[in-house]
Amino acid sequence: MAIDMNVFRGFAEQIKMLPQMAQPTDCPDGERVSRAKAVFREKLDRSKATYLESCVHCGLCAEACQFYIQTEDPKLTPIHKLDLLTRFYRREMAPMRFVYRLFEPDITAEDLEETQHLVYDSCTECGRCGVACPMGIDIASMVNVTRQGLAEAGLIPAGLRAVEQEQGSRGTVFGVGPEQLRGAVEALRAKGLDVPIDKDKADILVLSSTIDILLFKDVFEATVKVMNHLGVDWTIHSCAFEGANFGMLSGYEEVQRSASERITSQAIQLGAKVVIVPECGHAYPALRWEGANEHGEPLPFEVMAISEFLGREVAEGRLHLEPIGRKKHVTYHDPCKVGRHGGVFKEPRAVLDALDLRRTEMPKNRLNNFCCGGGAGLFVMEGATEMRNAAFDLKRMQVEETGAESIVTACGSCRVNLMAGADRTQWPMPVESLVELVGSHLKKPAD
Ligand code: SF4
Ligand code: SF4
Repeated sequence: MAIDMNVFRGFAEQIKMLPQMAQPTDCPDGERVSRAKAVFREKLDRSKATYLESCVHCGLCAEACQFYIQTEDPKLTPIHKLDLLTRFYRREMAPMRFVYRLFEPDITAEDLEETQHLVYDSCTECGRCGVACPMGIDIASMVNVTRQGLAEAGLIPAGLRAVEQEQGSRGTVFGVGPEQLRGAVEALRAKGLDVPIDKDKADILVLSSTIDILLFKDVFEATVKVMNHLGVDWTIHSCAFEGANFGMLSGYEEVQRSASERITSQAIQLGAKVVIVPECGHAYPALRWEGANEHGEPLPFEVMAISEFLGREVAEGRLHLEPIGRKKHVTYHDPCKVGRHGGVFKEPRAVLDALDLRRTEMPKNRLNNFCCGGGAGLFVMEGATEMRNAAFDLKRMQVEETGAESIVTACGSCRVNLMAGADRTQWPMPVESLVELVGSHLKKPAD
């Protein structure tokens, strides 16, 4: 169902208010520098140090980055975003550090502040540069290390900091917690849907996200319909339903750990075999890899993005869909964290093909897909507006080349960013949810 644009614009206005809600993180300059350095020292293990030693300055990463492509600003060259980290490494950890110290200046608080714009506002950690790099340098992961250092130094941009502080202190995101989830469940029960919330044991723990409870309510409803349609033993838990992890996005590890451990321990208590991550791109790596790192041992359950789960159910013949027909022409936007980082490409396409609609790929797709521009928390960063808009303009050109009449994706943040761009540029292009399409085309059992 099409979303009411007034509701959407109200949500976008709320996001603009976030900086006013952030608590200050005052800290003397020297303390900021030593905190950031301590994080860099801890995080720069041998493989990351190798990354910092390997660049051959070929420039290929620049041609891969949406922000460089759109602005041609050399400061936005991906490898340049690691300058602070590289300088730290050379002065403090490199084998030749005694030589480097002769000409590499020490890090200052001003350097940290200048780096904020590069690693927060101008990088979605999309990973496209890492795919292009002939040396295999994973720039996105190093950007995240820099974010971790800045976060510890109290330099998270205010909008992102407000949400990270809320999730860290109250466990809610945009004011959505157990009470709001129960309200959403009651609303679905009033429509006659069975929603098995807070079971003691279940094979599958389904997560949701604030965006689906507040804004894309039809996605939550569709998720419930799909799980019931499959007849699996599932639950959603009011103490552990939020897939979004603003600790990971901001770089603040304490919040990242507590958000992922909340889910991990609930899943273990339930005896869950699978945890399904909702349409939220970063929630997938936050639990699947980072969550396992934080847990300290392999997770005793499988983590699946919902698009991945749906694709598997289609492939194994359990999910039967009503065909939509070739008159509907769509293109699929891969959320970076699920696609490029997670390798989930064929599953959402298998679902779309099972719906028998017409599907055309963008010129850059799958591993080479361009980010929506709002990933890694950019959609709540006030300083990232120009970059978000630039990335959207590039994405719009990609979509227009397909001739499609609708974009389908499997990430709420991608949807928000694409819808905001479409609204800003008065582009009448629907941005749809994969799960919602499935939920509204489930084949009835009698068929
Ligand atoms: S991760 Fe993406 S946004 Fe960040 S520097 Fe690389 S290509 Fe650019
Ligand atoms: S593509 Fe890799 S090797 Fe080339 S400049 Fe970028 S980081 Fe360095």
